[in-house]
Amino acid sequence: MKIKYLKPDKTGKGWYQGYLKSKRWRRKVSKLARQRGGKICVVCYTRKNVHTHHMTYKRITKEKPRDLVFLCKDHHFTLHERTKNKAVSMKQALTDLKAEHPRPVFETRQVIIRYSDELERQNNHIRSLAMQK
Ligand SMILES: [Zn+2]
Ligand SMILES: [Zn+2]
Repeated sequence: MKIKYLKPDKTGKGWYQGYLKSKRWRRKVSKLARQRGGKICVVCYTRKNVHTHHMTYKRITKEKPRDLVFLCKDHHFTLHERTKNKAVSMKQALTDLKAEHPRPVFETRQVIIRYSDELERQNNHIRSLAMQK
């Protein structure tokens, strides 16, 4: 993982900490949050203390949306605990966590509403572009 343009930040914790403070990272996370109806934990749907977790570091700094998931502080911690000794894969551990957690219907519905609003906006935009031709 050699990233030339990311210099270690002042805290000296290395380039990764620097990356997490970079505009590139922050822009990426806020775009994802927009697309996903906010920073919402994928396990319990809370919006409090939500972290952005790397499912893989394979594409670090060039992450694909699927590489990143929003997790609350507690579930983030649990996920790392469970995958610590690599007995279970990150993907499996997340699937397990989700399965163990009951889905709050109301929160889920809110997310769906936000998604459909966004779709509507995009459709309108496409329509307006088509009409210009
Ligand atoms: Zn959670
Ligand atoms: Zn993490």
